[in-house]
Amino acid sequence: MCDLVVNARSREETVKCVGSGHSFTSTAVTKGHLVTLDNWSGIVSIDRSTLRVTVKAGTTLAVLNELLHAEGLALPNLGDIAYQTVAGAISTSTHGTGVSLTGLAGQVRGFTLIDGQGQILHCDLENNADIFDVGRVSIGALGIITHYTLQAVPAFRLHAVERALPLDVVLERIDEFVDSNDHVEFFWLPHTPWALTKRNNRTEEPLQPLPKVRGWIEKTFMENVAFGALCHLGKARPSLIPRLATALPSSGKREYINDSFKIFASPRIVRFYEMETAIPRASLVPALQEIRAMIDAKGYLLNFPVEVRFTAADDIPMSTASERETAYIAVHVFKGMEFEPFFRDVEAILKRYESRPHWGKLHFQNAEELAQKYRRFGEFVALRSRLDPDRVFANDYLKQVLGD
Ligand SMILES: Cc1cc2nc3c(=O)[nH]c(=O)nc-3n(C[C@H](O)[C@H](O)[C@H](O)COP(=O)(O)OP(=O)(O)OC[C@H]3O[C@@H](n4cnc5c(N)ncnc54)[C@H](O)[C@@H]3O)c2cc1C
Repeated sequence: MCDLVVNARSREETVKCVGSGHSFTSTAVTKGHLVTLDNWSGIVSIDRSTLRVTVKAGTTLAVLNELLHAEGLALPNLGDIAYQTVAGAISTSTHGTGVSLTGLAGQVRGFTLIDGQGQILHCDLENNADIFDVGRVSIGALGIITHYTLQAVPAFRLHAVERALPLDVVLERIDEFVDSNDHVEFFWLPHTPWALTKRNNRTEEPLQPLPKVRGWIEKTFMENVAFGALCHLGKARPSLIPRLATALPSSGKREYINDSFKIFASPRIVRFYEMETAIPRASLVPALQEIRAMIDAKGYLLNFPVEVRFTAADDIPMSTASERETAYIAVHVFKGMEFEPFFRDVEAILKRYESRPHWGKLHFQNAEELAQKYRRFGEFVALRSRLDPDRVFANDYLKQVLGD
């Protein structure tokens, strides 16, 4: 791989590493050489004294979760799906929910990188500490990452409680809701007053998974097959969308206990476009109320929920939660339906709340704007110039978000 980089550099060609290709942005797209790490998977070593695990960067989170579980370990937090590679997820600042926990990049204790000159650099707090500090979220701009060392925790179980509540009640009690649960998220169903809330808390109680058939019906059928059918219907007859939205579950309560990774991530079969934006946690309620009013005023017909999550602040310069406790608002549009006017209107509102786009999800912000939103943006750009002076890892997306 080092030769590939050296040769590409000498021929003024570009190289891009792709993970599972699960980003909605063109962050992994290239006109040059495309590197996949599909066969570069697995745990290399585990330090039992620190619970630090070194993994190959192409390992998917799904595979890593199972491997860690077999060792009595887990990652402390995960996002909604586990199809991503470790490198892809960390490079775009992928996160789950939980106000006392950071996104995945916050678990990075070291990484190995092939830079734009073909050099292999091991980076942690002792070696190349400046690269480690600035490069934990890299948006694929600094080089090809071959390994990560991640902080794991002992395997744990979660008690999941899922129930629909009126959105107004959720927003009125949002601080209590977020502060008194380990992991909180909610999905507001546009055209309805309902929010589907999910609260996951650590428990020592024994496993109590959803029975297999019920689990399949509720997780795979209702959340994917039936939901997908409603989306197709709404796409064919948009005027039906507000009525179809009320067919989504708005009452009842579901509780179960399972291994953490089986609760954090679930199958996602329905295809959609997504924009997710990080704002300061304290801005959530006014920002969401503005989006709600805008949807009504403009008459958008939306058949996908708006998802809200929370994370702790971290110290990673290009993390979307850098230096601030964060709320994330994600909007979705069913595949094949027009998304841009709606996403632009949401983005315009959230720009008034110091918004930072998820690096892997659709947005329209450029380097000039983003430089204002990250205090250490300049340090990241300088590191990029040091590690990749000839822009071997450049692509159109990096031009948009980092400039030349
Ligand atoms: C259905 C769905 C659900 C999602 N849920 C969540 C969620 O819950 N939370 C969340 O935060 N995000 C979520 N995402 C977004 C997703 O986590 C990110 O887009 C993530 O980057 C995808 O990982 P990937 O392996 O597919 O990476 P890719 O999309 O293939 O690549 C992402 C970036 O990483 C770079 N990269 C990949 N491998 C390497 C490497 N070895 N070295 C250097 N750079 C590399 C690529 O060049 C690119 O810049 C979701 C996406 C989808 C489609």
